[in-house]
Amino acid sequence: MIMSELAIRPARITKVLPDSIASEVGFTPGDAIVAINGTRPRDLIDYQFLCADEVLEMEVLDAKGITHQVEIEKDYDTDLGLEFETALFDALIQCNNHCPFCFIDQQPPGKRESLYFKDDDYRLSFLYGSYLTLTNLPPREWQRIEQMRLSPLYVSVHATEPELRIRLLKNPRAGQILTQLQWFQERRLQIHAQVVVCPGINDGVHLEQTLRDLASFHKGDVPTVASVAVVPVGLTKFRPPTDELIPVTQEKALEVIATVRSLQTQFREKFGSTFAWLADEWFLIAGAELPTTSEYEDYPQIDNGVGSIRQFIQEFSQAAELLPVSVKPRKFTWVVGNAVELAFQPILKQLNSVEGLEVSMCALSSTYWGQSITVTGLLTGEDLLQKLHGKNLGDGILLPAVMLKNDDSRFLDDMTVEELAGLLKTPIFPVRGVVELIESCIKSRD
Ligand code: SF4
Repeated sequence: MIMSELAIRPARITKVLPDSIASEVGFTPGDAIVAINGTRPRDLIDYQFLCADEVLEMEVLDAKGITHQVEIEKDYDTDLGLEFETALFDALIQCNNHCPFCFIDQQPPGKRESLYFKDDDYRLSFLYGSYLTLTNLPPREWQRIEQMRLSPLYVSVHATEPELRIRLLKNPRAGQILTQLQWFQERRLQIHAQVVVCPGINDGVHLEQTLRDLASFHKGDVPTVASVAVVPVGLTKFRPPTDELIPVTQEKALEVIATVRSLQTQFREKFGSTFAWLADEWFLIAGAELPTTSEYEDYPQIDNGVGSIRQFIQEFSQAAELLPVSVKPRKFTWVVGNAVELAFQPILKQLNSVEGLEVSMCALSSTYWGQSITVTGLLTGEDLLQKLHGKNLGDGILLPAVMLKNDDSRFLDDMTVEELAGLLKTPIFPVRGVVELIESCIKSRD
């Protein structure tokens, strides 16, 4: 474990929301909060907790380095209206595992240092739903999870058999997962789990055992394990040759779908919920029909690629009424991963039924990662540059924002949208979801 004991830095403000208490008080971007009622916040969790008081005595450092004392009186539940440059004001808690399937290790060499940084931080899990392994927490962090009731957390389980999880995470501390789940259960705290299936290692009877063990924690009014996502291992051409990993084949995908579907039937009978869901990729690799909308219930694992294609198709059918009969002539290139090419054909057809609108789908695989079948979220700037350079792209590219890291303007390979637009000499319109896709197609740009 590499737990940083670095000092807490003042929380640097990047945005002051208009008409907020903070703007009334006179906060400006560049100011930094040192302490609230005498306590230095470690992270956004502390900040939100400390700001729940009605009277706040704040120590604030302005951009010139001058300290100010600010007193604020407010209702206990009123937000101050501040945004910060980072959620953590001390250091990230780093990963202490060596999973052979780690995507960070499967990147090309020579990129910006931060691309190789592996975090495994329960605070990011609580705040943003990122997955963690629970292998690196000292007692004081467990206490904090309990005291602040940081729930739900998102836990990469992969396997519940101790020796197998130790093998997968290459960490002797990884074998305590069932005891840890017990700990959550005793405190009525919840987790969502994920299992990355590596063929020949944690599939077959091991996968069945893992899902049954996790299901044993899905009981009562606050089920400890709220849901499970079963995800296929993703491999790139940069993985080390000695990693013992085997790519998921169509045959393997069909086998895993059959195993999980049989368990889902049992879970639905027992819990009234599917409980464990298969990521969309399994169906794409298998060439099988995606589950129906109702099977995903309230999409508890949507951020893990579980049901996102079905949800997109469903949302499009609801939003299609926004499509006009005709628009002024325009032409766009809609870039997607080739894995969803077939599934999105009905959407493409409907867009092109608008008179004057011509949308060409460009379904790409990733040369960058060396994958012949690629989901949209893994396409990089370099992939787009290679495949689209010199092509007639019409009035611009409709770019699913899922390709951009944390929804900002960078691709996974660190290229920015602006750089790519300049190199392709074409406007790029990032689209977040169905409504933005439709609006980008019909909006007048005169
Ligand atoms: S826990 Fe996550 S970040 Fe750490 S090695 Fe495993 S996959 Fe990589």
